[in-house]
Amino acid sequence: MYWKKKSHEQIKEYIFNALDQNLDYRGDRPILGIPGTYLDTTEFYPDAPFLKDAPYMSAMVRNPNHIGVHTLSDESVLEVFEGTQKIEKELIKLVAEEIFNGDPKGQDGYVATGGTEANIQAMWIYRNYFKKEFGARIGEIGLVYSQDSHYSMPKGANILNLSSIILEVDPDTREIKKESFERKIKEAMSDGIKYFIVIANLSTTMFGSVDDIDMLGDFFTNMNVPFKIHVDAAYGGFIYPFTNPTSRFTFQNPYMNSITADGHKMLQTPYGTGLFLIRKGFIEYVKTDEAQYIPGKDYTISGSRSGANAISMWMILQIHGSEGWKYKMETLCDKTERICKKLEGIGVEYFRNPYLNIIAIKAKYISKELAHKYYLVANSYEFEPEWFKIVVMPHVKPGTIDAFLMELEGEVNQRK
Ligand SMILES: *Cc1c(COP(=O)(O)O)cnc(C)c1O
Repeated sequence: MYWKKKSHEQIKEYIFNALDQNLDYRGDRPILGIPGTYLDTTEFYPDAPFLKDAPYMSAMVRNPNHIGVHTLSDESVLEVFEGTQKIEKELIKLVAEEIFNGDPKGQDGYVATGGTEANIQAMWIYRNYFKKEFGARIGEIGLVYSQDSHYSMPKGANILNLSSIILEVDPDTREIKKESFERKIKEAMSDGIKYFIVIANLSTTMFGSVDDIDMLGDFFTNMNVPFKIHVDAAYGGFIYPFTNPTSRFTFQNPYMNSITADGHKMLQTPYGTGLFLIRKGFIEYVKTDEAQYIPGKDYTISGSRSGANAISMWMILQIHGSEGWKYKMETLCDKTERICKKLEGIGVEYFRNPYLNIIAIKAKYISKELAHKYYLVANSYEFEPEWFKIVVMPHVKPGTIDAFLMELEGEVNQRK
């Protein structure tokens, strides 16, 4: 993985150049047929002096539409927004090939509204793939995911009419339990499920636990049943590949067919930046032929979407370069490690994956007041919580960590 960092000036020039290659609604070209325009000028006046130094804000005001998918062919880049749609294409290439080690030009993708949409996009593609290639009926397709998975899985299963097969995890290691896994799949098969859409978590939201993608892939391969694995790296996608040099979550692993990686979690981009990547040859299963007014047709759940989102992701990756981002993510892991060592010192049990910045602490060690004071997140707000989690994000200051640990130690000692 390597890409060189760019300077602010280089980035600014690049984005403004791209914006200049888009049709400008304020320019000389006779644009009569497009149902889009610049932002309302009463509020968003285009001559605000700061805009000339603010490429992202300028993109927002110029308002390019990135409707559709732009990695498919040259035709899929709309002439009207050619400049910025090419940036999205470059972003997909960078993330797929550098971060997730894909073959050159081997992947398609787009910037979805978020991880929810990207996950559902994957389910939608595989559902249609099984229908088209195997003649599967809806009732024969199962969606397999662990009990720690994000709620976008049941949401997607509900929208797409898939049967959920929920795998149990070990209460301490958060690993999928092998016996229950085998039992659930065999049960599903005897209930008529023949095709499996499998979700592998590259970090669950609550625990930062990572599923064993090879175990999942080997299992279904040995069962000799059709399956496809989608990786939910909405949370971990922009940290884990940088902190774990031997990650199995790359496109070189044949089991990984598609992946969700949110910009708006670890990459610190604005909301609306859920990246969806998939091997070439699959996104066609969700082509909407009725999208007649879009030259490249549409393959996404969202339809119209802001080009500024793709630009924001591209900018952040470029300003740091791969080495800069790696340093930043490793620093977060170091901070997390320090907290873990301290927790061990005061005898508090926790779960943590060493390549991630999430610590789930067993709730019995923490009073509700302390958890509330530091905005720790509980695993359930409906039932009695079993876990409280800390997420060591870039805004977390060492002083805050120290103060929390001191109060926690006080509570633990008092209980003794
Ligand atoms: C946040 C998250 C999602 C959903 O992402 P949104 O961008 O909120 O839609 C899905 N999966 C995991 C693991 C997440 O952490």
